Amino acid sequence: MDMPVRSPWDGYRPKPEGSEDAVYDKCGVAGIYAPGEDVARPTFFALYALQHRGQESAGIAVSDGAVLRCHRDMGLISSIFTEDTLAKLPGHLSVGHSRYSTTGSSILYNAQPLMMHSRLGWFAIAHNGNLVNTHELREALTDTLVPTSASDTDVMARLIVEAPDDLMEDRVARVMQRCIGAFSIVLATETQLFAFRDPWGIRPLCVGKYGNGWVFASESCALSTIGAELVREVTPGEIVIVDQHGLRSRMIETEVKPANCIFEYIYFSRPDSQYKGRELYLARYQMGRELAKEHPTDADVVMGVPDSATAAAIGYANQSELPYIEGLIKNRYIGRTFISPDQSMRAQGVKLKFNPLTANLNGKRVVLVDDSIVRGTTSKQLVALLRRAGAREVHMRITCPPMRHPCFLGVDTATYDQLIAANMTVPEIKATVGADSLAYLSLPGLVSATSRDRSEFCTGCFTGRYPDGIHEHLGDVVRAAEGVLADPALRG
Ligand code: SF4
Repeated sequence: MDMPVRSPWDGYRPKPEGSEDAVYDKCGVAGIYAPGEDVARPTFFALYALQHRGQESAGIAVSDGAVLRCHRDMGLISSIFTEDTLAKLPGHLSVGHSRYSTTGSSILYNAQPLMMHSRLGWFAIAHNGNLVNTHELREALTDTLVPTSASDTDVMARLIVEAPDDLMEDRVARVMQRCIGAFSIVLATETQLFAFRDPWGIRPLCVGKYGNGWVFASESCALSTIGAELVREVTPGEIVIVDQHGLRSRMIETEVKPANCIFEYIYFSRPDSQYKGRELYLARYQMGRELAKEHPTDADVVMGVPDSATAAAIGYANQSELPYIEGLIKNRYIGRTFISPDQSMRAQGVKLKFNPLTANLNGKRVVLVDDSIVRGTTSKQLVALLRRAGAREVHMRITCPPMRHPCFLGVDTATYDQLIAANMTVPEIKATVGADSLAYLSLPGLVSATSRDRSEFCTGCFTGRYPDGIHEHLGDVVRAAEGVLADPALRG
């Protein structure tokens, strides 16, 4: 049974009722090559540090140089792996994955790493990102095998299986040239570890030194967790190969310019992860300062929605010379469960996740800093929660521009009809969420907080212009989706 893919939307799976109003990254990946060591355990801890990137399923594949074994399941890393399962994964070479699905449904069938077999032997592949030409690639496949998975990763893996080359690195290079979209990938054969990244570098991927071996991970926080040292990012368009001869690199030919996802700075990545030699915490703090410069508020206190907006709220407070307070206590374990709340609990909305600190809020004019507004439902509940706790005024300040366009590149940001900023003006959103005022950080302000140039980023979900070389392939899908916008003045 094949599953037809007709557009980048294909396989889109609406969030289940009661799930959070938020943006979700697709996945985290990690891979280790450490001669003489069993690497299942450090791979587990690297994935554990990347748990925020995907909480639906996870897996680890390990090779001892002769046999590649894999264990994967639904759930959190800590619930999937035990001492017993790790002991059954001996070997010095691994890849691991934690998943949030944006294509393919959330079932074990789609969990990664995917295990595939070619005439070169077995390989395991783990992918963060989303291709936008999956349909064309799938059409071009000649095999008649039942797919191991419904995801775009499955299509890439099958292209690797079908490639005629005698070396895996040539197969990888050939397939990379054909794939359009976001892919940060780790791949293990029985004897080699590969890490490769799309030429745009949309999703992150870094390389570190781990003892006498090497480690790859979506974010540098995973390296720190296992005591590895960050060396550098995998360059967009690069294939890094590690085997008994050590580490080497090759670049694929490409004319596209890198376009990192700017949302990694705003929300997805952990604040202790580094990009371009700088911890993201500093960028988020600076976003708060820029926001305060652009949109000062006559208020008594500043608070952030924990935890992702904390750094920005502190930046906002410092720039405005207002006291920073904690106004919400977050249950850090909610959303990390597969037990669905019942209807009465669902009706309580964010109360499952946050409790207000009445003593800090009562009678205060509050600036509430958040990283984004997706559908608006969470913001509305938060504003109501703060008012019930006694806040006299609630002024929302958002550390990015309005999200008016969906992401097609590995992030679940909702569709045009679900995105509140695609369908309402800022004053209308303010009224809908019930805030006393609402203001967003401008795109120049956001970019300035990253200390990088705007040309280095994908900003598609704010501007509707996706990176050159990808935008053109979205074609009809984007144009059709743009038609959903009621008011052209809302765009860009
Ligand atoms: S569209 Fe937005 S979320 Fe998607 S890759 Fe571009 S900046 Fe990131």
